[in-house]
Amino acid sequence: MRLTFNDTETAFAYKTNGELKSARFLFGTMNYSWFAALGVRITPFLMKTGLPIHGIIRATIFKQFVGGESLEQTAVVAKKLGEYGVQVILDYGVEAKEGEENFDHARDVFIQVIEYAATQPNIPFISVKVTGIARFGLLETLNSAPRLRSGIHDNEVEAVEWKKVWGRMYDICEKAAQKNIGVLIDAEESWIQDPIDRLSVEMMEIFNRGEKCIVYNTIQLYRHDRLNFLKMYHNIAQQRGFILGIKIVRGAYMEKERERAALMGYPSPIQQDKSFTDGDFNTAVKFCIDNIKDIATIIATHNEYSNLKAAELLNEKGIAHNHPHIHFSQLYGMSDNITFNLAKNGYSVSKYLPFGPIRDVIPYLMRRAQENSSINGQTSREVLLIKSELKRRAKAAKVKK
Ligand SMILES: Cc1cc2nc3c(=O)[nH]c(=O)nc-3n(C[C@H](O)[C@H](O)[C@H](O)COP(=O)(O)OP(=O)(O)OC[C@H]3O[C@@H](n4cnc5c(N)ncnc54)[C@H](O)[C@@H]3O)c2cc1C
Repeated sequence: MRLTFNDTETAFAYKTNGELKSARFLFGTMNYSWFAALGVRITPFLMKTGLPIHGIIRATIFKQFVGGESLEQTAVVAKKLGEYGVQVILDYGVEAKEGEENFDHARDVFIQVIEYAATQPNIPFISVKVTGIARFGLLETLNSAPRLRSGIHDNEVEAVEWKKVWGRMYDICEKAAQKNIGVLIDAEESWIQDPIDRLSVEMMEIFNRGEKCIVYNTIQLYRHDRLNFLKMYHNIAQQRGFILGIKIVRGAYMEKERERAALMGYPSPIQQDKSFTDGDFNTAVKFCIDNIKDIATIIATHNEYSNLKAAELLNEKGIAHNHPHIHFSQLYGMSDNITFNLAKNGYSVSKYLPFGPIRDVIPYLMRRAQENSSINGQTSREVLLIKSELKRRAKAAKVKK
């Protein structure tokens, strides 16, 4: 098999030299872990002070990781990705905006995004955060009250509020089903995840009928209980006769999860170390591919080994690279070497492309800054790849002269 992730010419064909140099500077800066940590701490505060920091953010980290502030701006980026056979998961970056009015507004925007996606050749999915349409405290209450897990609510206020959340998600999924667009429901913190899982399974049961998969839930394999959860979910799907839609990730809230568990004195839900996360992630991918008939999977990772392993498994089993139940995805602004080389080799692959006003996407940007700080090791790889491509281009330009 010829798939390799070292081909930087393919990886960065869509970027100019200027864009690559800006990216090199940004990743180089994030490589100073103290700087990234400081930025993550003070940026949300600075945003509130009214200091002219928007311009700096817009020209740097926002430009690297976000499609634009509006759908129109983002459409330009999506189109460009499409020219290279790369698809798009559109993500309206609304986080932590509470209030019923805001939740209804978010539902309306998600529906507009679905309508827009349906007019485009390369936007098969949108992503949704339940915290964009539900109060965090409500999810926390539902999560921690075992009596409510069954779906039986004995508190009238919560029951009414939950019904509204359910209705918003139903409206989004119903529109998506009409337009044949997939809805990927993000995984969030473990202390609000139970109601998200329940909502996801209820939507799947309604909309993932026949061969069609419209609704996907996300599992985070940095949690030690999620491999079993996947198997249980699969059983439920088989019993109830729907296609299981699963996005597989490692998980983005590790520090928060550990800190909260330590603070509140309960066992951490996170794996002992990274090798356990990696092991469960790759096993989950294999489990889904082994059950490809009734599980539709999004392999969402920047890990080269996991992507290669999954691609190899498809080849071994003689499964078409563009099988409708297998899709690869990386975040916009990261791991272009994986995305563009998978696309070149005919795999179904996308960029997860957030958009929204700067202040709304700050939590997302802070997670990217954290993930790309030198502590986590992603940055050095990005910098090396960019440097190597700039060198290759300079050499090619010399030969041309
Ligand atoms: C398309 C897409 C969608 C995503 N959607 C979500 C989502 O809905 N919810 C969500 O939470 N995240 C989501 N993520 C982020 C994802 O969970 C990871 O944070 C990110 O992709 C880094 O993991 P990796 O597999 O790409 O890379 P790797 O570099 O191989 O793995 C890094 C990850 O390994 C885990 N890890 C690191 N150190 C340890 C340790 N000591 N012990 C245990 N585990 C460890 C952490 O999860 C860390 O993020 C998404 C990512 C992508 C690409």
